[in-house]
Amino acid sequence: MSTEITPTLEKAVAGGRLTPEEGLRLLESTDLLALGQAADAITRRLHPGPYRTYNIDRNINYTNACTAVCDFCAFYRPPKHPEVYVLSREVLHQKIAETVELGGDQILLQGGLHPSLPLEWYEEMLADLRSHFPTINIHGFSPPEIHHFTKLSKLPLKTVLERLKAAGLGSLPGGGGEILVDRVRAEITRGKVMTDDWLNVHRVWHELGGRSSATMMFGHVETLAERIEHLDRLRQLQDETGGLTAFICWTFQPEHTEMAHIPPSGAFEYLKTQAVARLYLDNVANIQSSWVTQGEKTGQVALFFGANDMGSLMIEENVVSSAGTVHHLTLDSIRRCIREAGYIPRQRNVFYQFIDEDPGPDPDAPSPPPAAPLPSHSLPVLAAGGS
Ligand code: SF4
Repeated sequence: MSTEITPTLEKAVAGGRLTPEEGLRLLESTDLLALGQAADAITRRLHPGPYRTYNIDRNINYTNACTAVCDFCAFYRPPKHPEVYVLSREVLHQKIAETVELGGDQILLQGGLHPSLPLEWYEEMLADLRSHFPTINIHGFSPPEIHHFTKLSKLPLKTVLERLKAAGLGSLPGGGGEILVDRVRAEITRGKVMTDDWLNVHRVWHELGGRSSATMMFGHVETLAERIEHLDRLRQLQDETGGLTAFICWTFQPEHTEMAHIPPSGAFEYLKTQAVARLYLDNVANIQSSWVTQGEKTGQVALFFGANDMGSLMIEENVVSSAGTVHHLTLDSIRRCIREAGYIPRQRNVFYQFIDEDPGPDPDAPSPPPAAPLPSHSLPVLAAGGS
């Protein structure tokens, strides 16, 4: 007896594009292993080499002042709060110097929506960092920040992005995506960019020749259909521009937030959603595992549920750790996770190019297990989804 979703999985594995209805049926399924096998088959088709990758960067939150209110955020402080900070240039230099020492090639530079720092302040910061650390890529300013800069400066989006790029901005992170459906955004955020403008920041950045990543934070007030709508909006944007390098999803971390009453999603929901994302986003090459929120073990297993990358070593991570749930991995443990899974670990940059020395074949690494065939019979239901 075939599983109900097998024809849809076979279609995706064969390179067919899923409709939103098909995507929703997959998300509604509890056949986690079938979803994982299909997602893994696509990952192996897209990344047939013996490698799985990671990145070394540092998450630097230059300010925690924020004019927006997001119920899921435990990091921000209202602008007049006594705990508000803006990092000095000296502190920034010190953090980046430590990153370089640890073999990092990038900083993830993000902050709250500061009420008064002018665009020139950001330009000067970028130019200063670029001149002191010319080899470091500045992966900076998520779409909510860029959108905020346009409001403060009263300048067109294209002008703001051109000026930041000229000052040294290297690539854009996909933060602040949450769920790209205005109903959801209006329920959990106030004073923050809505869906069309979030996507437009990426679109215009791509038109300027830039690259960016996309994210999804799920497991809060959204429906499964809204998760698919999110993926669909990303897929449409990627059809238009081709500028998204990667997709990363993680479960909402409720601790210490205004939404602490929502039970956290578990590994089942995470792996299922990531696998469906791999199946749905047929035009996005890379998917990162999110061990920061899911922990080492689930983060490792995610390599068989659509991820081809272990994400970043993340020398510093303030936003998720403010919400209480944060996992720390060393470089050795990231590499071990990849090795144990049967792959050779390689360090990559933001464009997913290898930047370490080719280690050659690793005689100690076990071979990745052969891809499992898609099920022709019902697989056991592993566990209840969600929390
Ligand atoms: S998520 Fe970002 S925009 Fe929202 S409150 Fe936190 S810092 Fe501000």
